Amino acid sequence: MDPFVLRRGNNNIWHGIFPAFARLGIKHGISTRLGGVSKPPFAALNLGLHTGDEAADVVTNRQLFCETVGVDYEQVVTAEQVHGDQIRIVGMSEAGRGRSIYEESLPGTDGLVTNCKGLPLMLLFADCVPVLIADPVRSVVGVSHAGWKGATAKIAAKTVLTMQGHFGTNPADCLVAVGPSIGRCCYEVDELVVNKLQTGFPQWQQLVTERSDKWLLDLWEVNRQQLLEVGVRQDNISISGVCTACNTEVFFSYRQEGGQTGRIGAIITL
Ligand SMILES: [Zn+2]
Repeated sequence: MDPFVLRRGNNNIWHGIFPAFARLGIKHGISTRLGGVSKPPFAALNLGLHTGDEAADVVTNRQLFCETVGVDYEQVVTAEQVHGDQIRIVGMSEAGRGRSIYEESLPGTDGLVTNCKGLPLMLLFADCVPVLIADPVRSVVGVSHAGWKGATAKIAAKTVLTMQGHFGTNPADCLVAVGPSIGRCCYEVDELVVNKLQTGFPQWQQLVTERSDKWLLDLWEVNRQQLLEVGVRQDNISISGVCTACNTEVFFSYRQEGGQTGRIGAIITL
């Protein structure tokens, strides 16, 4: 079976799911740009409040996305997302933070973890990598935002380690899903990024391809390697393999669309 499958909900919203997560009954989804009420260049299912789009449209889109995934919009928790590696443990007292007002999202945070049932965690993306994590044994879930800065700072691995430190998660029990993002086919980076990889990743040469005086970076592999390093099992990692820049009719791509575009959301709920 494909690691990632697109579905159309009754409300005309398209979103992707990972069957490995669905089998365990973990409510989750990666939105697309299909369905929704935003106008160009945010058409149509933009979930980002900080993009210049009409806030009321974004809120409607978020409600539609939550409805199709089957989670409670009122409880949704979001983060400011600053391309850092700070991870926050979220409890019921944070329910609804940033749901409809960006300034109320959790500040300076790029990773969220909770063990609260029914508390949806949501982060936003346009080319960066959504990483969803579920520990079905200890009943803990997490999500992280891994663009090149977060990925080279190993935020996905740190999210697993945060789950371990706070809730006793064994990384070998975790299921991890690596969602759609800009792929190695399209993601040109400069020397600075390669230098970062050389310091933190012994197998850095597997992560990049040299092209003239630039490099092409494989963010999926950067995430996969660091997850294996902390003890996540190879068989438990699902990689969507979908490039956002190659598929702008389905997903938003910051790089491909020159920065004026919407955001997809990745959501996970115990
Ligand atoms: Zn591509």
